[in-house]
Amino acid sequence: MEKPRESRMQQRKGVTLLLFPLPLQGHINPMLQLANILYSKGFSIIIIHTKFNSPNPSKYPHFTFRSIPDGLFEHETSTADVVHLVTLLNIKCIRSFHDSLIKLLLDVKEEPIACLITDADWYFTQAVADSMKLPRLVLRTSNISSFLVYAALPLLLEKGYIPIKDSQLEEPVPELPPLKVKDLPGVKTRDVEDFYHLLAELVNETKASSGLIWNSFEDLEQVELSALCKDFPIPIFTIGPFHKYFPATSSSLLTQDKSCISWLDKKAPNSVLYVSFGSIADINEAEFLEIAWGLANSNQPFLWVVRPGLVLGSEWIEPLPHGFLEKLGGRGCIVKWAPQQEVLAHPAIGGFWTHNGWNSTLEGICEGVPMICHPIFGDQRINARYVADIWRIGLHLEYKLERGVIERAIKRLLVEAEGQEMRKRIMTLKEKVEHCLKQGGSSYESLERLTSYILSLQPLSSH
Ligand code: UDP
Repeated sequence: MEKPRESRMQQRKGVTLLLFPLPLQGHINPMLQLANILYSKGFSIIIIHTKFNSPNPSKYPHFTFRSIPDGLFEHETSTADVVHLVTLLNIKCIRSFHDSLIKLLLDVKEEPIACLITDADWYFTQAVADSMKLPRLVLRTSNISSFLVYAALPLLLEKGYIPIKDSQLEEPVPELPPLKVKDLPGVKTRDVEDFYHLLAELVNETKASSGLIWNSFEDLEQVELSALCKDFPIPIFTIGPFHKYFPATSSSLLTQDKSCISWLDKKAPNSVLYVSFGSIADINEAEFLEIAWGLANSNQPFLWVVRPGLVLGSEWIEPLPHGFLEKLGGRGCIVKWAPQQEVLAHPAIGGFWTHNGWNSTLEGICEGVPMICHPIFGDQRINARYVADIWRIGLHLEYKLERGVIERAIKRLLVEAEGQEMRKRIMTLKEKVEHCLKQGGSSYESLERLTSYILSLQPLSSH
């Protein structure tokens, strides 16, 4: 049951908010968490969602769900080229979203609608909202640091940093410290121009919005927040981390295998490495095997999420040598999908080998778990650079994945003093998280401001 605890609930405000998540796991989770937070502040919630990757309404009986056709054919729903998928969604949903919004506004009976809150990737929605004089707020599900890099796209193109050239990978980008050229946004896609177009639209339509909400917190990104406020003169709210407002909730599209929790229960505190690369990234078979042998040779216990489809060309873990796990005598556990927040909060977890998707990175910070960073595409590379070089709470695997390097990194993180130092630093951040959510803390206060701001918007009643 996902309904926020009654003790944290405020009187109903008689105002409805429309929320529109992007249908990808790393975007659905924070949007539904935000919905719960705003519900607890007294707003009624309507979730508009595509048929593709629809959230499960039965888990949120306190929300109203409106499904819209997305027009995607089966072969277009692959996340292998996520830029193409998001671009298609932004074209194919215009009509159905527009019609659904009109219907919702005409249907308004008891409660006026104050605003629309959409994922930043739904850039087409700004024009639709404008045409109906409905204020649109944006939720950016990644962090401020990477958004600033996206906003610097014209400069990066002009100076020739991107498209990225192999000969410049290790060079610094002095305009964006501490980034190197290889950390700049890049992704596998059929046409790189689609990627630049997506980034430009995302940034421009965010700038045109009535407000910007972040699943991040001030203490973590103070410098970047100041820079953002200068360039984006719209109301900005840093109210994260969202998932810490309520006990673990789940908007998981895949079934979480909870058996790994009882496996963790039998392990010593801080001893297990949790390995997961999120919901979209993929790796090739050679990399998969290097990871497997690196984990095996490290002699440390590990819990590894191998999502079906993670390994290119394989259904699941077929490339592993016969009897691989059995030979480790219970030291390794592989699942298809884990209850990640619960796993990270488990006392047995000592390290997190992550692809540095923003949700995963933030979830790791919130539980004080130091990281091994292996970013794969997009903002993950920027997040990894911050984790390793600015916050200094993780080791960066930035070169070729090779079993010896992996084994060494795991030992450095879990066994050696270097890992202990990182743990101390990330524990300090964990404490900051706890503080920012309490009365007087930055996220708490920012949420109060967001609530008042939404109430100050001219609500749209039936017309
Ligand atoms: N997640 C999960 N179980 C897993 C792996 C991931 O529930 O086995 C969740 C994780 O907690 C996070 C989300 O999936 O909230 C992944 O989002 P992230 O931004 O880290 O990466 P993405 O999937 O977007 O690349």
